[in-house]
Amino acid sequence: MSDKVFSIAIDGPAGAGKSTIAKALARELDAMYLDTGAMYRAIGLDLSRNGLDLSDAASVAAAVGNVDIDVRYEDGTQHIYLGNEDVSRAIREPEVSMAASAVSAVPEVRERMVALQRKIAEGQNVVMDGRDIGTKVLPNATLKVYLTASAEERARRRCLELKEKGMEEPFDKVLQEMIQRDYQDTHRAASPLCQAEDAKLVDTSDLTLEASVEAIRALALEAIQARS
Ligand code: C5P
Repeated sequence: MSDKVFSIAIDGPAGAGKSTIAKALARELDAMYLDTGAMYRAIGLDLSRNGLDLSDAASVAAAVGNVDIDVRYEDGTQHIYLGNEDVSRAIREPEVSMAASAVSAVPEVRERMVALQRKIAEGQNVVMDGRDIGTKVLPNATLKVYLTASAEERARRRCLELKEKGMEEPFDKVLQEMIQRDYQDTHRAASPLCQAEDAKLVDTSDLTLEASVEAIRALALEAIQARS
């Protein structure tokens, strides 16, 4: 492997397993992991706590510059702060998903987040996941993966994940919200979710987590070697 840094972009719809897979991959490749969805969630949380109407793009655009957001790494784990408050858990509350999707459609929010994401990743080996990593944040990524799975399978996994965090939700509700969020994310004007032309499509519907990580690890090693 050369001394040059590598970057791996993992995009896809909600619940495709991006963060679990990206985290495992980053550990195996000794790279930094950046969960960009957490950043949009923090913006959504902050603005909704301040009583902003998140469907009002002009108000969101005017307010985003004042959000005191910070990404810190503690023992190798990403934490998101709003001021001095660690909101890493609060941003996982189910209602924050829709708030994140609403604010993420506002170009001023995206500009600020993309600049921050590039700055955090600068000069480091990185695995980043989100919706626009391959298309916008890291257009020259060493490897781009578009990770997906059927909506039912993604909702099933999201229900399990919420249950493990003590935030149980009914399957039908999770599925409907996921379909709505994916629709919003793929239909917005600013950096909509889509597969980059040069991204590899990986469908994890019938793959275990281990098999998914293994498949992407093989693609990553191949791409890193080809670039050296
Ligand atoms: O990945 P996660 O589900 O935590 O992301 C929450 C929301 O943040 C997404 O539904 C999407 O609207 C937005 N997002 C985005 N661009 C990213 C990451 C997340 O627009 N790179």
